[in-house]
Amino acid sequence: KLTSREFQPEPTCIKVGDAVIGDGSLTIIAGPCAVEGREAFLEVAQAVKEAGATMLRGGAFKPRTSPYSFQGLEREGLEILAEARELTGLPVVTEVMDPRMIDIVAQYVDILQVGARNMQNFFLLRELGKVDKPVLLKRGLSSTIEEWIMAAEYIISSGNSQVIMCERGIRTFEKYTRNTLDLSAVPLIKQLTHLPVIVDPSHGTGKWELVEPMAAAAVGAGCDGIMVEVHQNPSEALSDGPQSLTPDNFASMVKKVKMLHQAM
Ligand code: PEP
Ligand code: MN
Repeated sequence: KLTSREFQPEPTCIKVGDAVIGDGSLTIIAGPCAVEGREAFLEVAQAVKEAGATMLRGGAFKPRTSPYSFQGLEREGLEILAEARELTGLPVVTEVMDPRMIDIVAQYVDILQVGARNMQNFFLLRELGKVDKPVLLKRGLSSTIEEWIMAAEYIISSGNSQVIMCERGIRTFEKYTRNTLDLSAVPLIKQLTHLPVIVDPSHGTGKWELVEPMAAAAVGAGCDGIMVEVHQNPSEALSDGPQSLTPDNFASMVKKVKMLHQAM
């Protein structure tokens, strides 16, 4: 397999702007679940940068469970993301849900995210294989490690070797947490593949109080980065407020995970 250590013994490092993912540094991607408006996004982007984020996130197209929930600002959201990138100098990650949107999304952002719900959208994966931008591939809601790796194979075998794996929790019988964060995926992906792997403790738990401890555990497990949802006013967020950190809580989490990462 193209993802395997047998095929490529050395780890894949992915350069994005001034940042590198997979070189032993700790990538910290932060921002709100969704881009909700220009002012608010630019403000939170500045705040997470000051706190130590190395990349920005924010959804412009949101894969919501209900069609009646906020679906994202779409094109306007992409423009805001590009402005935040200019303002902060940080690379930007956003989700692309449909092959028809790949070209437009790629014009505005640095990394294209495949959401958990699209991990086995094989046509989307193939089309992303033709793009010259890194792809952040989230693990499917109920996907095995093998299925997730095969999804990466779809992208790489179609021509794009810049794939970042992202563990974001899987469905189990447990109800206290939104998902069960499978941190064994981190050392497993490292053993089975040469790809960088990051962890999303926000979607992985659904509860902001669990984000810092699970981010710390993810760093302990050897991940290349974390992706965390941050909102100025989580109780007013249009999506995923209960799992979003305030900028202050994010800043203290960053201090902790950086110390842990240095000690490793
Ligand atoms: C997201 O990161 O914005 C998201 C929707 O996550 P997931 O696809 O993991 O549910
Ligand atoms: Mn979210």
